[in-house]
Amino acid sequence: MSNILVINCGSSSIKYALILQDYDYRLYGLAENLGTPNARISGLTYNAQENRQEKFEVELGQADHAQALEVAMKRISHFKFDAIGHRVVHGGTMTQAQVINDQVIQDIKNISNLAPLHNPANLIGIDATMKLYPDLPQVAVFDTAFHQTMPKKAHLYALPRDLYQEHGIRRYGFHGTSHAYVSERASTLAGQKNQGGWVVAHLGNGCSTCAVWNGKSLDTSMGLTPLEGLVMGTRSGDVDPSLHLFLNINLGWDIAKIDQVLNKQSGLLGLSNLSNDMRTLVEAAESGNEDAQIAIDVFVYRLAKSMAAMSCALPKLDGLIFTGGIGENSGFIREKVIRSLPHFGLSLNAENNATRAKEIRIDDDTGPQIWVIPTDEEGRIANETRQIALGENVF
Ligand code: ADP
Repeated sequence: MSNILVINCGSSSIKYALILQDYDYRLYGLAENLGTPNARISGLTYNAQENRQEKFEVELGQADHAQALEVAMKRISHFKFDAIGHRVVHGGTMTQAQVINDQVIQDIKNISNLAPLHNPANLIGIDATMKLYPDLPQVAVFDTAFHQTMPKKAHLYALPRDLYQEHGIRRYGFHGTSHAYVSERASTLAGQKNQGGWVVAHLGNGCSTCAVWNGKSLDTSMGLTPLEGLVMGTRSGDVDPSLHLFLNINLGWDIAKIDQVLNKQSGLLGLSNLSNDMRTLVEAAESGNEDAQIAIDVFVYRLAKSMAAMSCALPKLDGLIFTGGIGENSGFIREKVIRSLPHFGLSLNAENNATRAKEIRIDDDTGPQIWVIPTDEEGRIANETRQIALGENVF
């Protein structure tokens, strides 16, 4: 296997990780506030003189993406890498990762209207690393690609057909790299690699569910954009589609304001009027904050409804998988979700559910399996890059 640099470029940030074949640690970093006077970078580097890893943090002045990447690359320069994998949010109808060339860049540009905040930022990262490493193969790994196996009944909206055929308005789904990774991992740990039916809940700041059958996505809760579906940190998830009209006519809000409220001021934050952070809400609810309690209740109920809905896509349900910051760390939320699915014959092993272990099975072996699997989107992007760019057989 090879060493792979993974890049996740946002509009004002860059996350990177160097995935090393021969070491059980990664070098990584996060550059933030790029293009502002507060640009900075922090992460883990390797001190060759003392032969150890060490943390670093540097102010970057008003650095842009390219300047921040140059600083980042110095922090990993002790190691060589063989290819670069880029996270790209929207791949339209592309069904798998692509080696980046002029055509692929054009394709990513062409679908930028579907992810106007994300795809242009991802392209900035691609452009910067192409200039720094013109001879290395680079791969685009799309959040949407895993869901391209969704059948039409799952990905079509009940809208005039032209909107789909002429304008690509359909459900795409996101978090595909995470759903692919944890479902493969759980099925492998269960001794049935890429077999069986799994309902996955990825619960981070963004949240989505996915139905995976024999290693393929058959349905997912996010749609044309990552706003559809579950209650999230600051996103509303599903609302009545007429809400836009109602807010416009009755409150005089324009479309930009409505978009801002549904994406940035809703979800757990909007319901609780306190925080988008589940830890804060659980603590507040325990001390009697009713709004925090309601936010948790709506989050859990909507999640359970979505998981039940996902089960409709599966010929058979082998198990549930929890991942993402909330899914991995909150036994409290997992227990509430499982209690909200009374017809699934689930039974929780309370001791395992309370354990802060990685990759743990938390059912008591009498019904469908329940797994907690820490996600590893960077590892998955590295493996897809190895396979697509270097022909390595990693899956
Ligand atoms: P992102 O989607 O930005 O990658 P994460 O996957 O890190 O986010 O998830 C962030 C969420 O995980 C936050 O809501 C945070 O409160 C929640 N979280 C992390 N640890 C815990 C915990 N121990 N209990 C409850 N929620 C947690």
